[in-house]
Amino acid sequence: MVIRNLLRVCAALLLGLTFLAGTGTTASAEAAEAVRTIRYDASRSAEFRSAVDQGAQIWNARLSNVRFVAGSPADVVIVADNGWPRARVTSLGRGTIWMGRQAVQEGHYTVRIASHELGHVLGLPDRRTGRCTDLMSGASAGTSCRNPYPNSAEIAEVERNFQNGLLGVATGVTLTEAAAR
Ligand SMILES: [Zn+2]
Repeated sequence: MVIRNLLRVCAALLLGLTFLAGTGTTASAEAAEAVRTIRYDASRSAEFRSAVDQGAQIWNARLSNVRFVAGSPADVVIVADNGWPRARVTSLGRGTIWMGRQAVQEGHYTVRIASHELGHVLGLPDRRTGRCTDLMSGASAGTSCRNPYPNSAEIAEVERNFQNGLLGVATGVTLTEAAAR
């Protein structure tokens, strides 16, 4: 009788441990699922490829729930052309970016352009404040601004966008940086 009771206690303990282990696995799986991977294809971004990679790394280093990874099928395609830099967002984390040479010829910094355009894909609109500390001020901060980093408010906004499925830009519309002038 005593042995039977002991076995029963052991079985209950084992069940409890299994339950705890199961809960732990589920929790970590949920945490992993909460990180959204955005695959980007910079193979047609020509001389801007390294700037695009740097822009992606800048965001990766600051966001906990979003991660840019080079690869295909791509959520974001980045191409080089001779116009002004611009972005067309189709949904949060998806779209097309044009790394326009005209801005670079006028003296704008390629890495700032890349992280700014990626900011649009992350749901951030243009805010032409003229402040260099704002990434989304874009060309309004002038060519002397070489800051490629989002500020803490911009980072928090992106985190919220992905937590809540928010998008601060219109979908299917081409956002051009030329409008800043
Ligand atoms: Zn912009």
